[in-house]
Amino acid sequence: MSNGFRSLPSVDRLLADERLQPLEAIYSRQFITDEVRLILEESRSSIVRGQPAPSFDELLASVCARVESLGQITLRPVINATGVVLHTNLGRAPVSQETATAMKAVSLGYVNLEFDLESGARGSREVHISSLLCRLTGAEAALVVNNNSSAVLLALSALAKKKEVIVSRGQAVEIGGGFRIPDVMRQSGAKLVEVGTTNCTYPSDYEQAITARTAALLRVHSSNFKIIGFAQEVSVNEIAELGARHNLPVLDDLGSGCLLDTTRFGLGPEPMVQDSIAAGVALAFFSGDKLLGGPQAGIIVGKKHLIDKLRKHPLARAARVDKTRMAGLAATLLHYLKGEAEQKIPVWQMISMPLEEIEKRAREWSEHFKGLATVTEGESVVGGGSLPGSTLPTRLLVIKGSARAKERNTVQALAARLRAHQPPVVGRIEGNSLLLDPRTVFPDEDRIVLEALRHGLDSLGVG
Ligand SMILES: *Cc1c(COP(=O)(O)O)cnc(C)c1O
Repeated sequence: MSNGFRSLPSVDRLLADERLQPLEAIYSRQFITDEVRLILEESRSSIVRGQPAPSFDELLASVCARVESLGQITLRPVINATGVVLHTNLGRAPVSQETATAMKAVSLGYVNLEFDLESGARGSREVHISSLLCRLTGAEAALVVNNNSSAVLLALSALAKKKEVIVSRGQAVEIGGGFRIPDVMRQSGAKLVEVGTTNCTYPSDYEQAITARTAALLRVHSSNFKIIGFAQEVSVNEIAELGARHNLPVLDDLGSGCLLDTTRFGLGPEPMVQDSIAAGVALAFFSGDKLLGGPQAGIIVGKKHLIDKLRKHPLARAARVDKTRMAGLAATLLHYLKGEAEQKIPVWQMISMPLEEIEKRAREWSEHFKGLATVTEGESVVGGGSLPGSTLPTRLLVIKGSARAKERNTVQALAARLRAHQPPVVGRIEGNSLLLDPRTVFPDEDRIVLEALRHGLDSLGVG
């Protein structure tokens, strides 16, 4: 063991090796020295555990590998060939060119974020976005926070702390990723009063639960599941009418926050923000990066006196958004104002992509891999907590393994090769097949998908 220790080189000897020079041109001396020390320490521990001492070259290779992997930005672009438009694990909505440009423009320098250029006095960061949101949704006032979860938490904390909030039992749900209505409610200090049953809730159920302690009626869109069969929910018009009659604010968590009519694209109906405001809800909440197709944000629109209350709550400051997202959101909203959302916002471009165009691209892809790949009918989904049970017909490139274990491994191995490509290409595996959906691949990425497939198949010896 002590021999093993003695065979380890000194920190200085490793640092003096000229093979570290390319790293020194990029990274600080301090960083490289620290990594050398750590690798030597780890080697000592492994010698104590009875492992052989690494050679000088092995140590040097470990240092280089560690410095280089730490020195990479691990968050990087990938190509989404899964056919899931709002893929939560792949970052939800990709933004438009105009949105990205606006975000870049305000990040590189100073901006009039809270500065009134006319008077030279302090301004409000909300002015840049609230008039756009009001115009598009018909609301009196608007507020933007970090995400929809914080929007709902902020509203419940500001309006219902130590009071009761009535929710249909079928809507006391989990949206995923730790957002459960009962937990959010508890966190806000509001008391959840569940009414109705899992499948059926009527206006009278709410009515019977209203007391002097009731602060609000909460409606939560079941964005990631669907109850089929015998089911009855109270409509937004009915609940708004109930709220008005009892002088209680109706809080409407819409989830995706759609401004366009999804049925025009052959999808099921997704509740629209304008409809909730028109029905008379007090506040509606939705995400910036779901069907709106912009950067991550939680958008609150509704009655001015309530928005003012929310704005003054300490959580509003804790959950506020920065200048880049403000600029990005404004640019995204402008697409709606100009009536060009389908042409400019990637999420809507993908949803509205004609089937013939998808088929043409899938066929073009398959041409390059004759005998290995075919084109078949399939389905894309919107995903990301919207339109559960709704699908869009698509065409898929299929690379089929056989039922034999060896070839099943080939499909898995091919998918792994695609993920290891630069940039990574993510497909979907179903049974023994690898499926690639052109719908969620930007047309200028087709070339990369083909290149990744070619390399993957070649390296597995099946190309
Ligand atoms: C997605 C969703 C949320 C959470 O929104 P984030 O922007 O991800 O925080 C909350 N409520 C509903 C109904 C949702 O669909």
